[in-house]
Amino acid sequence: MEISFTGKHALVTGAGKGIGRDLALALARCGAKVTAVTRTQADLNSLVQECASITPVCVDLADWGATEAALKDIGPIDLLVNNAACANLQPFLEVTQDQFEQSFSVNVKAVLQVSQIVARGMKARGSGGSIVNVSSQASQCALRDHAVYCATKGAVDILTKVMALELGPYQIRVNTVNPTVVMTQMGRLGWSDPEKAKTMTSRIPLGRFAEVEDVVNSILFLLSDKSNMITGVTLPVDGGFLAC
Ligand code: NAP
Repeated sequence: MEISFTGKHALVTGAGKGIGRDLALALARCGAKVTAVTRTQADLNSLVQECASITPVCVDLADWGATEAALKDIGPIDLLVNNAACANLQPFLEVTQDQFEQSFSVNVKAVLQVSQIVARGMKARGSGGSIVNVSSQASQCALRDHAVYCATKGAVDILTKVMALELGPYQIRVNTVNPTVVMTQMGRLGWSDPEKAKTMTSRIPLGRFAEVEDVVNSILFLLSDKSNMITGVTLPVDGGFLAC
């Protein structure tokens, strides 16, 4: 199945590292004009060095005013991937207000705000569009020390469904991918210990964590016209973890 995004403009948040970075590069290879949003300038510099056609935007998405200023003149976007997130892991009884607010600001509030900015343009142009929010298996299954992270991703899942409901009449599709562990910087934070990793892989029917490419390919499918009748779904990319 060949996917082409020639003539499309894609915006990817959290494009400095991990899944977002590989996704931005994959979208550019598929012909899209790509805007990469993240908060570390050095990551954007190296990304543009790797792919000169990518437009970099450096902003802390936890900051509503700065995000508005950075994206208000972004121009027409056809494809949006809300991928940026943070994972502050701590036992439930030790969660602090700061950790809670930081996580919800990036993982939920920025998804809402960036989607509003982009979807208002899609609606005004009448051109439709596709939005993918990067959620997690943690949205639907309790994981130790993940109280806040799980809560943010649960919020992303239901936010996605409401967006699908309200934006559907404008031919804007909105879906999530819900990966299992991927050994990016974020994945290594919680799952580097081989003994702990085994407690997770033993619950995954396919017996392994996801590769970045597994997640990128699922996002490309949901962005593309190959999934034209799919909206409001939460797509596990988890080797069967959530099914069992
Ligand atoms: P990652 O390697 O930590 O990369 C996250 C990217 O988001 C980084 O470029 C980071 O920039 C950026 N970012 C974080 N906070 C930001 C902010 N306030 N403003 C702007 N950019 C910000 O993470 P990943 O593993 O690729 O995760 C990508 C997505 O997949 C996330 O939504 C995550 O929840 C989800 N996910 C990951 C896993 C996993 O095991 N890795 C599993 C399921 C779901 P800085 O480095 O500068 O902070």
